[in-house]
Amino acid sequence: MRYLIVGSGIAAVGAVEGIRRFDRRGEITVLDGEKRGAYTRPLISYYLSDPIHYADLSFRPDSFFRLNQVEMIKARGIKIDRRARILNLDNGMQLAYDRLLLACGASPAQLELSDLNQRWVSNFYTLEDVERLNMNIREGQQAVVIGSGLIGVKAAEALLKRGLRVTLVEKAQHILPQVLSPTAAARLGVYLEKAGIKIIAGDELAAVYPQHRIQLSSGTVLQSDQLIMAVGIRPNTELAFSAGLKVGKGIVADSYLRTSDEYIFAAGDVIETPNLITSNREIMALLPHAHREGYLAGANMSGQTLFYRGGVAMNSVKLQGWSLFAAGIPKPGASIFYWQEDDKYLEIHHHQNCLQKFIAINLPEVAGPLLSIIETQLPIPEKMWQEYVECYPTIANLPALYWQKIWKGEKNDSIEC
Ligand SMILES: Cc1cc2nc3c(=O)[nH]c(=O)nc-3n(C[C@H](O)[C@H](O)[C@H](O)COP(=O)(O)OP(=O)(O)OC[C@H]3O[C@@H](n4cnc5c(N)ncnc54)[C@H](O)[C@@H]3O)c2cc1C
Repeated sequence: MRYLIVGSGIAAVGAVEGIRRFDRRGEITVLDGEKRGAYTRPLISYYLSDPIHYADLSFRPDSFFRLNQVEMIKARGIKIDRRARILNLDNGMQLAYDRLLLACGASPAQLELSDLNQRWVSNFYTLEDVERLNMNIREGQQAVVIGSGLIGVKAAEALLKRGLRVTLVEKAQHILPQVLSPTAAARLGVYLEKAGIKIIAGDELAAVYPQHRIQLSSGTVLQSDQLIMAVGIRPNTELAFSAGLKVGKGIVADSYLRTSDEYIFAAGDVIETPNLITSNREIMALLPHAHREGYLAGANMSGQTLFYRGGVAMNSVKLQGWSLFAAGIPKPGASIFYWQEDDKYLEIHHHQNCLQKFIAINLPEVAGPLLSIIETQLPIPEKMWQEYVECYPTIANLPALYWQKIWKGEKNDSIEC
């Protein structure tokens, strides 16, 4: 069997592991479009804040591809000939495949503004972006980060650590709008401002001028030696789309990670992932999902039929020493329970007998169990959550129904890999 994998990120690594679990002999070729090998994308912010200690961003040891007998080709796939089962590369090569995996990831979304193409304007997405920033930034410079999603706040933190003065601009009314509630965001915002990051919420970039000046929609003009764009991502669906595969916001894959072509699979940031809570398909650009989808796609390409249920939106980040973990989505009509003490904070959203969302600040120990309760939609009555936040929310105090499930050793029906 000839396996061809487009992209060499986390989903591709998962796919190699999934294939090799079941097929030791098939030929695997991986296309490394960035020409940087398989690095851990979330670590780029650490590489920016401390380029010496975080020089190695590899996700697996260097020997990983060699030991798994993978041929790496530094090139991009540009056109799929589905009938002949051939992929054309940008270096003129043509590669035949029996099974093709599209693990093409995503790219930074772009604002439709003129004059963004300047040396002092950067994305914060690839190793190359960070290498360029590392060459250009200087202590004391003024940096403005546009967008306060996970990528934006990580960029802001790294620039602050490098001694820049940082302003974070968010279009929504509070930072991390997809992850945090206004209450939790306010707590984090106060903390980040104390640490030195200036936050402007409810405003957006309107114009970029020469001489390092930008203007926000409110009319505010800011000086910006470095302007970092972090306004979201868009899946790299072009290859799939031009081949006539079914594409929505991302590539549409079934519960076995197969696209609308039986010989082509897809995994990672490039696909629409089923949300376990809402059953909607959405882009969940998250490392654990990319790895799991890659693994299952790889296994299924080798002839297995491993079912993928989907995932839940979740975020785990350490910011200026604070640990933040949030998962699930808010539902209208949910009952919300709060607990707080000093810098610790917990928010529980309960709806129709199930935990729908939680936000845990500086309570990393409860995050894992709460995530598993969401993922399995374990029914737990509202009263038990109320009691949980009335006492100190530790692992030991979790609702009895959770412990009963653990003790019974009930098999978690999500797929492990
Ligand atoms: C700054 C930052 C911080 C993050 N922090 C977190 C975090 O804390 N937690 C978390 O869960 N997630 C985080 N993420 C998201 C996480 O990195 C992604 O979900 C994950 O890397 C997706 O893996 P992937 O393999 O699907 O895609 P990618 O890692 O993007 O890999 C896809 C690769 O395919 C290449 N490619 C695309 N098209 C082609 C082509 N035609 N031919 C050849 N190659 C091609 C791309 O260039 C890319 O190298 C973060 C992302 C960023 C940018």
